[in-house]
Amino acid sequence: MQPSISFQPLLEVDLTAGTVGPLVLSDEVRRAWVGGTGLGLYLLSQELRPGMKATDPDCPIYIFCGPLTGSDVLSSSDCALTTLNPDIEHHVCSAHAHGFFGSRLRQTGWDGIIIRGRSEQPVYLWIEDGRGELRPAVDMWGADTFETPQRLRELAQSDGSDMSTACIGPAGENLVWGSSVRVDDFSGWNTGGPGVVWGAKNFKAIAIRGTGTVPIHDPQRLAGLIEQMALEMAESEAVTPPWPFGRRFLAGQPARVESYGGGASGLTAIPMVGELALMNGKNFSDTEIGVRFGRRLGKDLRKWKVESAGGWNCEIACHHRTTCTTGPMAGATFTGFGGEAMEELGPNLGIEDPAIALLLSGVVDGYGLKAASAPRIIAMLMEAFENDEISLEQTGGLDLSWGNYQSVLALLDLTVRREGLGALIAQGFKTTAVTLGIEHRAMHMKWNGFQDYDQRAAPLFLFQSQVVSGADLSSAIDAELAFGVAIKPESGVDEVLDPEDLSYIPDVAFKSARWTMWENSAGMCHFLVRHLHEVTHVEAVSAATGHEYTYAEALRTGERLLVLQRQIQMYLGFTPDEDLVIAERLVEKIPDGPAKGLGITAEELRDARDRYYAIVGFSTVTGAPSQESLEWLGLDKVTVGRP
Ligand code: SF4
Repeated sequence: MQPSISFQPLLEVDLTAGTVGPLVLSDEVRRAWVGGTGLGLYLLSQELRPGMKATDPDCPIYIFCGPLTGSDVLSSSDCALTTLNPDIEHHVCSAHAHGFFGSRLRQTGWDGIIIRGRSEQPVYLWIEDGRGELRPAVDMWGADTFETPQRLRELAQSDGSDMSTACIGPAGENLVWGSSVRVDDFSGWNTGGPGVVWGAKNFKAIAIRGTGTVPIHDPQRLAGLIEQMALEMAESEAVTPPWPFGRRFLAGQPARVESYGGGASGLTAIPMVGELALMNGKNFSDTEIGVRFGRRLGKDLRKWKVESAGGWNCEIACHHRTTCTTGPMAGATFTGFGGEAMEELGPNLGIEDPAIALLLSGVVDGYGLKAASAPRIIAMLMEAFENDEISLEQTGGLDLSWGNYQSVLALLDLTVRREGLGALIAQGFKTTAVTLGIEHRAMHMKWNGFQDYDQRAAPLFLFQSQVVSGADLSSAIDAELAFGVAIKPESGVDEVLDPEDLSYIPDVAFKSARWTMWENSAGMCHFLVRHLHEVTHVEAVSAATGHEYTYAEALRTGERLLVLQRQIQMYLGFTPDEDLVIAERLVEKIPDGPAKGLGITAEELRDARDRYYAIVGFSTVTGAPSQESLEWLGLDKVTVGRP
């Protein structure tokens, strides 16, 4: 075996002791668990103790790059955060951020950061070319996620061109359910509630300054593979099929994947999403408002000043910096991804003016909240208010009629301050719904605000979110496959999926999840990987690390991670019935509109779950992986958690 030269140390932070130092893991561990999500899940499995909660001081946070992060490989920006999930019981947080944070981290000599303990006073971690230290953040506590990076840049006397940041806002500081960590102004670890875990540790931010190159085992071989990737990407665009929904409902107007690419693509995809009836409207009760919202946004986008923003080595640049020129927000500039956030903060709240949705998405980002957290709860409250199920007295006098964005702003502010009705919202979806007796209005998966889009129109996506992910409803998902913007012969999908045929779901969900778990460990952004042949991706990881992974080994590694994730869930107390806890309306067929009749019923969901369990080797009685599966994957030698 060739000696590996590509592994760098990890930066280990003890907030209780106030120490920062290097940690070197064996090459054997690094190769077996690759990096990113893989290494995070493995180390989490070793560190769990009975009764550990996400907000406990000893709950570890793993921020890991993959072996490709920060390299010359296209879109090699991925950086994974793994910890316990404070939003969903018995689950892990497995979030991914892009931007420049991960690449800069590796370029300063570190492959990842491990954070444990709890600081007495708020602190941030400063990293500069091979060194790390904890610094006071008392003065920054309370600052939002736009002001905090600015303050960090001022302290470092940097114009930002050589710096990356990650930080929480007031939501994370106040342990508000659904809090995120904002990264590099445009990106973030949004899913799984990591902002709460940071807030519980009095940990405000990370700032990285430095330049350098990441070690690559075989640069010449990797350069050849990068050329190959460029070719595959070009060919992929040439053969990308139209969306099945486009084919079904918009005959003659196929929506193509290029709609995602180029400037501000996260925003420009939204009109298409609306047209295809995939957008949430009025807490999923209105299938028409999303269509109107999308058309209006399409017109506004031609007037607004929209600049695309990307991550390390990324030409797709799906994030945006937008100056609004219409409506009451004219003149204001907002940054972000803009896709799902616009949907959640526009039509799902009954708001039809895209400029207002853009404003609200900026507010939510600034607080450090996931778009599908408090806003999804507010949509539930609005629907209950409109149906006289909650009173003005219960809302604290706020008129929660559809579209009342001033009430939304007031309620978001109350939420991050944990005051009035906001104090209830801050405790989460289930607590709010049960306390007010409006559970039937909660549009949740496992009482979590799931990834936007009306997933009933793409039953594979819904199944992946609800059952397969097992982490935070966004990992182990191949949305493009589910929505039909990609085909994946390697996953057994060589033609566009038919959303009315549910028979393929368990098998395709397993195969795509197995691949996605591998991909989530390697360091490239999924938006690029989806265009590549999987074998090329595996070869790139081999060239980078010096360990010759075979394609079969990559798939086995991905499957091992799926099963290890389930073992962690079992240790935390998971039962298989939790995979069926979902809003009733989500397991009804769509009643009207262009996607009428699509969806998966509760019986079909249970049947698909049972068939998926049979494929991956999980018991439908206990949820646990079979001994045969553990042995085949080598997990019989891995002890999960302390006794
Ligand atoms: S495609 Fe988007 S998410 Fe991916 S690296 Fe580029 S800008 Fe970031």
